[in-house]
Amino acid sequence: MMTDPAVIESLVRRAVKAAMHSGAGDTSSSPSPLGWVDGRPNLRVSISARHCHLTDEHVEILFGKGATLTPEKPLYQDGFFAAAQTVMVVGPRRRMLPSVRVLGPTRNHSQVELALTDSISLGIDAPTRHSGDIEGTPGCVLVGPAGTVQLEKGVIRAARHVHMNFDDCEYYGVKNGDMMQLAIKSPSCSVTFDDLLVRADKAAKLEVHIDTDEGNACHLDAAESIELKPQDGGCKCHG
Ligand SMILES: [Zn+2]
Repeated sequence: MMTDPAVIESLVRRAVKAAMHSGAGDTSSSPSPLGWVDGRPNLRVSISARHCHLTDEHVEILFGKGATLTPEKPLYQDGFFAAAQTVMVVGPRRRMLPSVRVLGPTRNHSQVELALTDSISLGIDAPTRHSGDIEGTPGCVLVGPAGTVQLEKGVIRAARHVHMNFDDCEYYGVKNGDMMQLAIKSPSCSVTFDDLLVRADKAAKLEVHIDTDEGNACHLDAAESIELKPQDGGCKCHG
């Protein structure tokens, strides 16, 4: 399979039709919830390769006055995209990652999201944080074709999480801020991930985001089954 490792890879995986959920279908005539297929959530697990988010100001410094991000590939979540632009991320002792994809749209704070393996090769001790929670995190230098930005903070290993809308929340019996568990069965390397933070938004489609280390650990590409459930083990979504 040909993939560009610098671009977010969306690996589509259907959840196993858990027996506990069968027959729990909503028979109302309202339109299907966002992202649902055949009357149920369509679970997708995506590997987020290393990437960065930039402010408008940093885009102009790195890519030139008046520059904006060029959408190159839409992400599964509506409105988000991988940009055509990449930056060089430079750590201490001049170690660097030459081509880190920029994701759009722009944000209020620039942030670099690395897998732990990336951060080790860069020589940056990146803490595991949820997006936007960057106080006290290490910085780095970003280099673009037009200029350089010294980030004082913002280098993190993104904590695993699951995006979902409120219909998905109801289906799984969880709410924003809850933790979930993702069980991935793969030949000889099954992994159950705890501590997936629920990030609920009315515009979101059900999608788990894990990093390349996590995706490789369970060989996501070879997964035979994937199950998402509330972390406390209780299923409040069926009678
Ligand atoms: Zn995400």
